[in-house]
Amino acid sequence: MSDALPLPDAQISSMSSRHASPLVMIPIAKPFLDVEEADAAREAVLSGWLSQGAQVGAFEREFAALTGAQHACAVSNCTTALHLALLAAGVGPGDEVITSSHSFIATANSIRYCGATPVFVDIEAATYNLDPDRIAEAVTERTRAILTVHQMGMPCDLQRIIAVADNYGIPVIEDSACAIGSQINMGGAWERVGKPCGAVACFSFHPRKVVTTGEGGMITTSDPEIDRKLRLWRQHGMNVPDTVRHNSAQVIFESYDCVGFNYRMTDIQAAIGRKQLTRLPEIVAQRRMIASRYSALLSDIEGLILPFEPEWARSNWQSYCIRLPARVDQRTVMQNLLDQGIATRRGIMCSHREAPYMVDQRKHDLRQSELAQDHTILLPLFVQLNEEQQALIAEAVRKELQA
Ligand SMILES: *Cc1c(COP(=O)(O)O)cnc(C)c1O
Repeated sequence: MSDALPLPDAQISSMSSRHASPLVMIPIAKPFLDVEEADAAREAVLSGWLSQGAQVGAFEREFAALTGAQHACAVSNCTTALHLALLAAGVGPGDEVITSSHSFIATANSIRYCGATPVFVDIEAATYNLDPDRIAEAVTERTRAILTVHQMGMPCDLQRIIAVADNYGIPVIEDSACAIGSQINMGGAWERVGKPCGAVACFSFHPRKVVTTGEGGMITTSDPEIDRKLRLWRQHGMNVPDTVRHNSAQVIFESYDCVGFNYRMTDIQAAIGRKQLTRLPEIVAQRRMIASRYSALLSDIEGLILPFEPEWARSNWQSYCIRLPARVDQRTVMQNLLDQGIATRRGIMCSHREAPYMVDQRKHDLRQSELAQDHTILLPLFVQLNEEQQALIAEAVRKELQA
């Protein structure tokens, strides 16, 4: 294999000979964590308070400050965040929620958890985000919310989506799972995703996202009433938080005012998250630099379409997505790169092509969503990715596209 990259060290090469799996030397993603996060987790464990305590409260305050949100509520992951956000918007059985099929399936699943039906609207080819011009035709008297996605960290055209939603008096919920640290220009001012610009924004701290707590989620809103409900629902509808009871000199009897959930975040996760937030500016700056380096390295390859950042968007580049020419087979390119030790991923999935959503599918044209899934691939992008590795990746892509 003369194309193989040099092995990073002997230990990995001996591992690869024991397991006959392909040796990936450049992964698709890698969390940016250090001994500081490990120490924070250790301290949280040794503190004796392991769930929804002081660390979670501090993480919420720091997250709110960072995004400019009035309220931030920590939960167990972004899927549960989306579930609660939809419930807070009043979504229930029989309702419809307009969203992207072209998203991780969690987006559609969260709508189903409410007993509602996702109504899929196509994306714009250039940004991979919901096409604002296609929303109105999908609105019915049952439409209860729009769940828009900032896909791969690239802000969607929120201003236009909110304008359509306002016409019908329906709330916009932002699936910001990938978009922590991204910015969006709203009426001339740069806002951080999560301020939020819609009614509610939901974030993920899964290791595949830009900052991580292992698993974890956050919901931001400017509406105190929504925040109050979220806090109730994440903890079984319990009307007094543990921290309040614990710190009270008076005996407090709590009550359970509704059927809630266990969507709590642990203090171990929150402690890690607080360290991660301090790194966010550095992480986003580095990711933006890596993305622009890719664009420079790949811009002259004929037929290759590079990701597009609208002038009103500043992406955190959670993923770097390239669109292959139609003549090139996606799987072959990915396999050839993998054979050279370079991991890639197929473009974002389409929920309407998966078993749970085939039956719901309206006759809306989802061609751009399908084309994106079938012809795009994601390249490795993580803070530790160095210039030499990027040059190798770019060369490998170039070789695939030489006709
Ligand atoms: C990752 C992701 C989710 C789910 O996040 P979890 O924290 O894993 O539940 C939801 N929506 C989108 C767009 C995502 O990328």
